[in-house]
Amino acid sequence: MKKSILLISIFVLGLISQLQAQAVYATSAGDKYHKKDCQYVKSGDVKSMSLDEAKGKGLTPCSVCFNETPAKAAVETKSGVKTEATKSKADIQKEAEKTKLVEKKEADKAKAEAKREADKVKIAQKKEAEKVKKEAEKAKIAAKKEADKTKAEAKKQADKAKLEKAKAAEKAKKEAEKTKLAQKKEADKAKIEAKKEADKAKAIKIKEAEKAKAEAKKEAEAKKEAEAKRKAEEKKKK
Ligand SMILES: [Zn+2]
Repeated sequence: MKKSILLISIFVLGLISQLQAQAVYATSAGDKYHKKDCQYVKSGDVKSMSLDEAKGKGLTPCSVCFNETPAKAAVETKSGVKTEATKSKADIQKEAEKTKLVEKKEADKAKAEAKREADKVKIAQKKEAEKVKKEAEKAKIAAKKEADKTKAEAKKQADKAKLEKAKAAEKAKKEAEKTKLAQKKEADKAKIEAKKEADKAKAIKIKEAEKAKAEAKKEAEAKKEAEAKRKAEEKKKK
């Protein structure tokens, strides 16, 4: 008894899951029903319903998501329920779906192409940016080099000027020393000359004094002689 209940339960559960598997999806605007994971029902106002309900509303299967099971479709066609008119209508629908699919494929292709193009542009832009960056770095390095060169040149010039200034100072010092030495020489010479002159004047003075003394002595001797002569003549007269 328990075993049969279990079997019935399993059967019912299986039936429910099968019914759930047969649930289809449709948009309010479309006249197709789709499987849950079809690309056409991924967005928008999608409504879930049973397959019978969809068929009752006059909806036809989407050729994209129901195309995977042609065997089933063939079985449905074989059942002979559909009339010639509905068949041709289905064919028209099929054709439209096909066109839609081709258009979608075309659009996807165009999209992919656009993406490739965009990627290409992006890569080119990146390359260009890198090039610009590299160029800027190169320019920076060149500018630094130039600045360093200018700096070095300025330093060289400054060092040279400094050296020249020192040289000029040294020369001026030497010149001053030379002038001082020449002046001293001149002064010494003048001093010697003056001494010579003074010595000469002194010698002349001494000579003159000696001459005067000798003359005075001579005169005194002559006077004495004359006195002696006069005295001798006075004695003779007496
Ligand atoms: Zn679909």
